[in-house]
Amino acid sequence: MNFTDTIVALATPAGVGAIGVIRLSGDRAIEIVNAVFKPKDLSTQPTHTIHYGRIESKGRVYDEVVASLYIAPRSYTKENVVEISCHGSPFIQESILQLFVEQGARFARPGEFTQRAFLNGAFDLAQAEAVADVIAADSAAAQNAALHQLRGGFSKELAALREELIHFASLIELELDFGEEDVEFADRKDLEALVNQLLKNIRPLVSSFRAGNAVKNGVATVIVGKPNAGKSTLLNALLNEDRAIVSDIAGTTRDSLEDEWTLGGIKFRLVDTAGLRETSDVIEALGVERTQAWVKKAQVVIYMADATSETPDGIAAGVEALGALEIPVIKLLNKVDQIADLSAFQSAIPDLIPISAKNRDGLNDLETALLNVVGLDQVSTNGTLVTNLRHYQQLLQTQETLEGVLNALKTGLTGDLIAQDLRYALHYLGEITGQISNDDLLKNIFGKFCIGK
Ligand code: GDP
Repeated sequence: MNFTDTIVALATPAGVGAIGVIRLSGDRAIEIVNAVFKPKDLSTQPTHTIHYGRIESKGRVYDEVVASLYIAPRSYTKENVVEISCHGSPFIQESILQLFVEQGARFARPGEFTQRAFLNGAFDLAQAEAVADVIAADSAAAQNAALHQLRGGFSKELAALREELIHFASLIELELDFGEEDVEFADRKDLEALVNQLLKNIRPLVSSFRAGNAVKNGVATVIVGKPNAGKSTLLNALLNEDRAIVSDIAGTTRDSLEDEWTLGGIKFRLVDTAGLRETSDVIEALGVERTQAWVKKAQVVIYMADATSETPDGIAAGVEALGALEIPVIKLLNKVDQIADLSAFQSAIPDLIPISAKNRDGLNDLETALLNVVGLDQVSTNGTLVTNLRHYQQLLQTQETLEGVLNALKTGLTGDLIAQDLRYALHYLGEITGQISNDDLLKNIFGKFCIGK
């Protein structure tokens, strides 16, 4: 791809700082800087070198700067790139930017450097998207996932899958070319094995999205329970502060609070709903509009029961009502410091976690349950984390299409129907990495089989 213009932008945040970095990319990047850079001639310098000098024009010295040179194709965008480190005054930065524009550079659009890098083949689309994720990462886990993707781990896996799929599709297309002759180049048993293998690779990627999304966007977690169950006390224990107001008088505390709490590198956005305070019956309470709205937005519900005032049957009924929401529910029995025998509760409610929010007992079990709910346990085993919604949707479509192929093979459907599903699967995968084109398929057929039509 050959871009004719040279783009320029401030690469560091606008505002006052120790230094600011101005970045140029394009054929004329070095020439444009060189026209106002003194005393060295930058046009004769080798790539990957840095040079101290002055930005100067018409007798006015703008700043003393350091220029870093990256000569095409050895740069981020694969074009000539110059980065100017100047003093971090908005006035100086603005003046130098204007000067470069006067010399023929154009202000870059958002993301244009990365877009050029992608179009010039520096990396694929999934990696280009990872650049944005690395910049936006606000937790260690999010940063790790984005860096992994940036390095191409995720893309490499997909490219390999796609390669196999192209081969698979070529054989079937070849059969179609021979139309009436009733030939089978593609052994159906081999094809089935291959599709199964592909599905085995794609399914963990698809299922990693739950954790990937949690890592990237956090997990909306709602705490529900009767008034005085100890929800605020739990919130305070988790957050280690007196953020929520703990009160002995039911229904007198404040409205819903939202707090961020980081666990295992994942941000849980905890909401303590005040809605349930308005009634003492959980099933009835779920009808409370405001609470319902919160619970609808939740990805996990923590249901807290009070061991000192609720019966095992009452709690079980509440749990059952929550089951209708079809989101994971973590069941806590609070105030167990007051109860000698928990067996009646435990036999009535499976997976009940006994805690004492007040004494901070049992909180580890709650933490483990939360991490399991977001699927973080799966992540360590398969390594690759899909964090991007577009990739997830594309992978899911690939998976569904391949499952269709598998069905077609089992029920003995004709080659043209299978070929169609395969084309779709290739399309979805190709769109993730940005390689999408039907030419791939054709090139592979002609390249490998020399049909010569
Ligand atoms: P909320 O209405 O669900 O937010 O309940 P609060 O957090 O305001 O707690 C209600 C009352 O229960 C307060 O007096 C707390 O001190 C008390 N409480 C909370 N957790 C425990 C616990 O684990 N054990 C005991 N004994 N009391 C608790």
